[in-house]
Amino acid sequence: MSRILTMTSAFALVASLGLALAAPAAAQDISEAPSTVGATYVAESATEALAPGEKIEKLFTKNVTQDYVLQRLTDRVYFFQRQFYGTIFYVGDEGVLVFDALEGRSAAVEAAIDAVTDLPITAILYSHDHADHIAGAAELIEANPGVRVIATQATVDLMDRLGSKLPRPTEVIAADADGFAFEDLTVRVAAFGSDAHAHDHAAYVLEGTGVVHVPDVINPDQPPFWSFAGAEGYLGYRDLIDQIDALEWDYLSGGHGNVGSRDDVAFYRQYLDDLEAAVGEALGNVPWGAGVEDPASLNAHTAYLSGWIAEIGKYATDKLRPEYGEYYGFEYSAPKNAELVGMYLFSYR
Ligand SMILES: [Zn+2]
Repeated sequence: MSRILTMTSAFALVASLGLALAAPAAAQDISEAPSTVGATYVAESATEALAPGEKIEKLFTKNVTQDYVLQRLTDRVYFFQRQFYGTIFYVGDEGVLVFDALEGRSAAVEAAIDAVTDLPITAILYSHDHADHIAGAAELIEANPGVRVIATQATVDLMDRLGSKLPRPTEVIAADADGFAFEDLTVRVAAFGSDAHAHDHAAYVLEGTGVVHVPDVINPDQPPFWSFAGAEGYLGYRDLIDQIDALEWDYLSGGHGNVGSRDDVAFYRQYLDDLEAAVGEALGNVPWGAGVEDPASLNAHTAYLSGWIAEIGKYATDKLRPEYGEYYGFEYSAPKNAELVGMYLFSYR
């Protein structure tokens, strides 16, 4: 009973947040953060394909001033983003395959697809069972009768285990299969060996297109998002980066951020190296008891770890700021990420 009530109120909270942003300043007042990879920016285009390594210019501004962003990546693959949530879709000969069903963005996804083809959506892939990336499925299914809904066995198992209220897949990619077909396209599934982001996560390679879809690990053109994009800890996070880098692709669809390239992988590795070094230094210099204001007034020992790890986060953030402080969202992500790395290094010695 209480669990049901808690789940219901949590859901109401998320629904009321709407995962949207307040009204933006005028577009000309927005100063975009510098590129983390020295990117070549080009004007958004739904017709001109991007060259590998190129990125869409003024992406933050576009997210707060446009209904959606639509960029052609290759012959048949398009990059979509609305309110900081992104994905891709593939235009076949008879229908469209949409990767994920972004929460609260179904109408915009349909509008973007209609802007480039008259074909209907005939398949949806769930990349992983995180509602913010797939909770738009009911609307897409209702608007496209008979649509295939595809997910891995791991995602179906997780939805069953947690009693998901989202529409279930109509087709399951068996645990021993390495992908699925959509018309002439083969989508290769690379299941992650680490559950650092989600217990059912995988990377999806659109063979022959040069595109990989893998939300919530690398946010291209940005430092890692707060809490490494919702990770429960730092353990295994670098393994995800390594596994993505081992796949064959030229364009990365990361679910958030710009279109990614190998330069983004290199930036993440360097950032994580520097973050680990900064946290290591903090562990050597921030004394136990730091962050505890008045030890004599305590009636709980728990002040010590929470206070200390917050100080570790601040120390490492200060250390990284001269090199990384101007990058996208640094001040909002670095302290928490440093805390996670701190707990990781503290726990595993
Ligand atoms: Zn996720």
